[in-house]
Amino acid sequence: MQDITILIIEDEPGIVKIIKSYLEKEGYNVLTAYDGEEGLKVFDENEVSLIILDLMLPKLSGEEVIKQIRNKSEVPVIMVTAKVDEENKIGGLRLGADDYVTKPFSPRELMERVKAVLRRIKKYNLPRADIIKTEDGRLEMDLEYNKFFKDGVEVFLTKNEFQIIKTLFSNPNKIFTREEIIELTFGLDYDAYDRAIDTHIKNIRQKIEDNPKKPQYIKTIYGMGYKSSGLDDVSKK
Ligand code: CA
Repeated sequence: MQDITILIIEDEPGIVKIIKSYLEKEGYNVLTAYDGEEGLKVFDENEVSLIILDLMLPKLSGEEVIKQIRNKSEVPVIMVTAKVDEENKIGGLRLGADDYVTKPFSPRELMERVKAVLRRIKKYNLPRADIIKTEDGRLEMDLEYNKFFKDGVEVFLTKNEFQIIKTLFSNPNKIFTREEIIELTFGLDYDAYDRAIDTHIKNIRQKIEDNPKKPQYIKTIYGMGYKSSGLDDVSKK
């Protein structure tokens, strides 16, 4: 049984009717809205898994709708556009649409797009997973969205920094040599020197520790390497 609700925001009743019947044939629950404002309202009041959004809408344009939705949600959006010029499509994608179809489109094609997007972003419909928190609750690492927070404020880490912390935090209190960190973080073929890890650790500490000279969360084990600290209560949901 599928429990996927799709919201159609489209002002042309004929098109709504066709899309709706195709979606329902596929087993999806369907909600409809005929202008941008109504679309936002219906979205706020329901658990929506995907939005099919017309670009040219009364009251609030599709662009404005997606902008407002993206402020609060990562729900997948497929744009439907009658504007044929490429710039508008790209604009829609840049605003956060996951895909688009151009009018006139075949309902079958749209169904394929819907399925493809739902497959691709299936994770958004699942509960948030893979959160690592320090015991004191001050540091939080979101492995799914690759985000890091200190005291609830996002800390911007480079990709390498994030990977290194992930390696250390995923293995509480385990001592890693520099070689192991390189291997586990970047893979065997990564051409990094031991000292590059030291530099990364130094930069990480600047970002996440209260006092980088007296680190609480990433400890140096002299002659050996590094380990995480304060993570005994690792919660991997
Ligand atoms: Ca329209």
